[in-house]
Amino acid sequence: MAKVRDLYNRPVKDLRISVTDRCNFRCTYCMPLDEYVWIDKKEILTFEEITRLANLFIQLGVDKIRLTGGEPLVRRDLEKLICQLSSLNGLNDLSLTTNGSVLAEKAPALKSAGLKRINVSIDTLDPEKFKRITKRGDLARVLEGLFTAQRCGLNPIKINAVIERGVNDDEIIDLVDFSRKNGFAIRFIEYMDVGNSNNWTSEKMVSKKEIIERIKTRFPLREMGRNRGSAPSVDYQFMDGSGDIGVIASVTEPFCSSCTRVRLTADGKFVTCLFSQQGIDLKTPMRNGATDETLAEVIAATWRQRRDRYSDERLEALLSPTGYDPKRRQKIEMITLGG
Ligand code: SAM
Ligand code: SF4
Ligand code: SF4
Repeated sequence: MAKVRDLYNRPVKDLRISVTDRCNFRCTYCMPLDEYVWIDKKEILTFEEITRLANLFIQLGVDKIRLTGGEPLVRRDLEKLICQLSSLNGLNDLSLTTNGSVLAEKAPALKSAGLKRINVSIDTLDPEKFKRITKRGDLARVLEGLFTAQRCGLNPIKINAVIERGVNDDEIIDLVDFSRKNGFAIRFIEYMDVGNSNNWTSEKMVSKKEIIERIKTRFPLREMGRNRGSAPSVDYQFMDGSGDIGVIASVTEPFCSSCTRVRLTADGKFVTCLFSQQGIDLKTPMRNGATDETLAEVIAATWRQRRDRYSDERLEALLSPTGYDPKRRQKIEMITLGG
């Protein structure tokens, strides 16, 4: 099957698979409401269906897969899916992003199933603040999960931290210090207007520039750039050689021109941008007996027409006299899409 490119000549390389839209946390910046319209259980793809579609994406150019959600570790027997995916030919990298809440129990099975590396989301080291941000989370359990994963040999382990002004921007240095001391890499993420309910404003967002300036006051850094030229994170090395950090600057330094990411929702919709309003249904044709060739052609035809560059457009709007209205478009929720 031939590799595909979109209208801006971007190949499809990184597949993010949301294995569930459910989550046991309610982070204020992601999923602030108690209830959402949940995907019906029978619409959720089976592990065999996910593996079949993943294989088609690989044939069209994908070589990296990340499992996400919702909270991927609340999906029962996830290690079985990891086992199936890690045996696919052509896949160079399989990873998982988790809130860490059940990692202490799951890490050994994930490692045995073939998972090599993980990202764990931790925005604060203050237990009370952690509870306020996640609404339902327990920091001690997450840290236990983080260190269990390290003992099991998952490597590298990256910490993801979304920085929100007035909430946890005073902890940037502490988070870096914690990561350096314990052998984790940290990725700071600019707060984004994902979904439709997080009440994002540009004032709440702390820019990459500001994050880096604050870190440099304590830890001198050298910029390394983007891994493979298309990674979302711009990486920096500590001048003393003790590890690295990265910042994902989707708002202030968007990277749409090199965006090779594609998303598969838990109910089998294929989505070409984090800010898309709709996806292309692959589950219905698959369950109606479509062949691999037909499904691959649907994916390829959609990718060839792709013209997404939402974050570029947002920056243009933010810099324009009229400004940017985050509610200008009804987006798919991040828990559905896979963050
Ligand atoms: N539940 C898992 C977790 O929290 O790691 C995986 C799914 S979560 C949607 C994936 C990543 O998206 C997390 O690192 C989270 O911090 C990030 N995220 C969620 N909402 C965000 C927002 N408004 N801006 C930036 N990043 C966000
Ligand atoms: Fe759940 Fe992850 Fe979203 Fe937090 S960021 S609500 S843990 S999906
Ligand atoms: Fe890719 Fe869309 Fe994000 Fe731009 S806004 S980097 S096209 S996912």
